[in-house]
This record gives sequence, structure tokens and C-alpha cells, in this order.
Amino acid sequence: MNKDKKIFKLITLEQNRQHNTINLIASENYVSKYILKAQGSCLTNKYAEGYCNKRYYGGCKYINKIEKIAIIRAKKLFKAKYVNVQPHSGSQANFAVYNALLKPGDIILGMNIKHGGHITHGSKINISGKIYKSITYGLNKNQNIDYKQIKSLALQHKPKLIIAGFSSFSKICNWKKFYKISRLTKSFLLIDISHIAGLIAAKLYPNPLKYADIVTSTTHKTLCGPRGGIILSNNKNLYKKLDKSIFPQTQGGPLMHVIAAKAICFKEALNKNFIKYQKQVLKNCKYMCNFFLKKKFQIISNKTETHLFIINLTNLKITGLQAQKILNKANIIVNKNYIPDDKQNSFITSGIRIGTPAITKRGIKHKTAIYIAKLISNILKNISNVNIIKKTKYKIKKICNKHPINKL
Ligand SMILES: *Cc1c(COP(=O)(O)O)cnc(C)c1O
Repeated sequence: MNKDKKIFKLITLEQNRQHNTINLIASENYVSKYILKAQGSCLTNKYAEGYCNKRYYGGCKYINKIEKIAIIRAKKLFKAKYVNVQPHSGSQANFAVYNALLKPGDIILGMNIKHGGHITHGSKINISGKIYKSITYGLNKNQNIDYKQIKSLALQHKPKLIIAGFSSFSKICNWKKFYKISRLTKSFLLIDISHIAGLIAAKLYPNPLKYADIVTSTTHKTLCGPRGGIILSNNKNLYKKLDKSIFPQTQGGPLMHVIAAKAICFKEALNKNFIKYQKQVLKNCKYMCNFFLKKKFQIISNKTETHLFIINLTNLKITGLQAQKILNKANIIVNKNYIPDDKQNSFITSGIRIGTPAITKRGIKHKTAIYIAKLISNILKNISNVNIIKKTKYKIKKICNKHPINKL
């Protein structure tokens, strides 16, 4: 068989792009070579509908062992009594939870996408906002989560489900307040830790399993694993419902190559080095954020306690899209991001999100992180200066060559 030259050439080009750019996308990371190997393994050939020892296909002897190991490790990592490692993605995990708990037309209360929520938390452009009656909360004047608003909306609408968790909020969330509100209104509480799972695994962010009925997450963001999702719970009334909701109700065969890679990811996250890594993620982020504050940039919530922060660009009179494009020319990759109550649409936006999981994974420490922040600041304050972009691109390449990603 001839190898597909077109596709393999594009993979090589993407590999080079990943090596030659400084990636500040808060939701991205680089996996270890072991995870990459498991995900590219023969396990992709296997059908295994069902769960360990209750499969609809023969030949699952080794598959069962792999899934069991993944589950045991995830339970230990997050202190959960129940884990489902089969969701294909974070979104699939959320839909399975909604499908398990809700009927069409039920009320859900989640974070507004413009304030940092995820599209699957009830956005009108997403099926979660179409099937269910979605009400949203946001940030208050101090750009902290508005617990008062959540409480009053919950009392007013009596949602069947309250969703906590976010894609772009830079501070520590008070899970206990969410818990208290959810008990007051007899709502289920889902906490989506997609972004912060790695920080939680390293005990650098409060673990919500004590408070949530259900926790969902991706495995590919701060957790450094393969692209995928997981569901966790300590509410024993829900375990069966959740399993059924993934298979057969919303998914077919599990991706066993990804589940093997998830198992490796959980093992890596249980290692002491993982805590060291996450501490450096936080340190790099804090130093970068403080640099921007010193240079009078507006930061949403005015600080970061996580792996990310959002820069409000309105006072610089540039949009998120413009900033993303111009930085891209200098091989610095960020994503445009809504700011609270953004006047621009989702393709333009008024902010950019900066995250440090990926640069930290390639070994960058805080001095270089500050240097990168300086380069970004310089570009954003002189966006029509082509010379600065050229010079920055050269400097970025030098940093990249010092921190290769193929040996992780
Ligand atoms: C990224 C993210 C998801 C979705 O994950 P996918 O794997 O892209 O489907 C869900 N919830 C939150 C809060 C996220 O940040």
C-alpha cells in the first residue's frame, strides 16, 4: 500500500508549526511520547461496546484490563468513587450528563459564554440551549463570579441542574457556595473542570468532588492527556444512570486507543513531577499576568490564580481577532476571547486569552515567560510596525529551538 503522501506531508508541516510557535492557547498542551504511542496503537482496531466484562463483542480480554486500569487510576487521582472514561470529548461528557438527568424543556442554570462559560453550558447556539430552557449567570462588577445573582436566579427559576465551571475565568471558584445554592433549590450540581483538571489533580485548585453530584472534564487541557472526556461522581444514585447515558444512549463503541492513552495520562498525573509542572504553570501565568498589569493592560478579574488570564483590548482600540492575527505573524499563538458583555461578535471579540500549560510543558520557566509577555506587549502597542513583528518572530524561533517538543 502506498502511504498517503499528501496527508503525511501535512502532518510533518503541522509538527514543524507546533515546534516553531509559542503556544499560549489555554486549552492546548503537548502529550508525552507514551500517550502518543498508545493513541496511535492497534487498539484503534477494536470494538468494545459496553463496559468491562459486559461487552457486546468478543476478544475484549485485554481491552477490559486497560479500561479497568484507567478507571482505577482516575478514581485515585480525583478521589472519586465512580468514573466513566468512555466520553469521546468534554462536550460528549456534558451531553451524557444532561441526558441522564434532564427531560427536554427542563431548566438549566450555567455561566454565560461572554463571561467565561462554555458553549455546552446552555448557549443558544448549542443544543444545550435549544433542548433545555437555559438561564445564565455571569461576573459581577468586580469581575468575580456573581454568587448573589446565581442564588437569586436559582430561587426564581428552580433549575433542575446548576452548572459550575468555565473556559475563561482566571480565579478560584467557591464550589461550596454553588453546593449550598443547589441544595436550597434541590437542583443537581454539575461541575465542569475541563480547564482546571490538571491543577485539581495536583491539589493546586480545590477539588469539587465533595460538592458536586457530577464532575465532567476533558483530558487534554491542563491534564496533559489525549483528546477526550471523563465523568466522575460520588453520588451513588447516579452511577448506573450515567453509565447508561454514555452507552447505549449517546455513544456507541468506546475509543480504546484513547482510553489506553487516558490511563497513561492518569499515571503521569499521579507522579510527583506533575505537581512540579503544575506549580510552574501557575508561576509562569502569574508572572506574565503581572507584567501586563505593570504595562497598564486591562486584565479581566484583575489577576490570575490559574493557568490563564484574559486581556481586554478595548482601550488599545484593537479587537481580539486583530491581536490574534498580528501575534500569529510573529509565531505567537493565542485565541481571541470574549470579555464580559462584549460588544463584538464571537468571530471578532474584544479580548485575547493567554494560557501557560503548553509553554510550561516544553520547559519554559518564568524568566522566559516574562520575556514572551514583553514581546507580546511590544507588538500590541505597535501593531503597524512590521519590523517589530519580523524581529519578534526571530526571537520566538530561538526560544522554540531551545525547548523542543519532540522529546516530551
Ligand atoms: C473545553 C471545554 C469543554 C469541551 O471539551 P471538548 O473536548 O472540546 O468537547 C467543555 N467544558 C468546558 C468548560 C471546556 O472548557
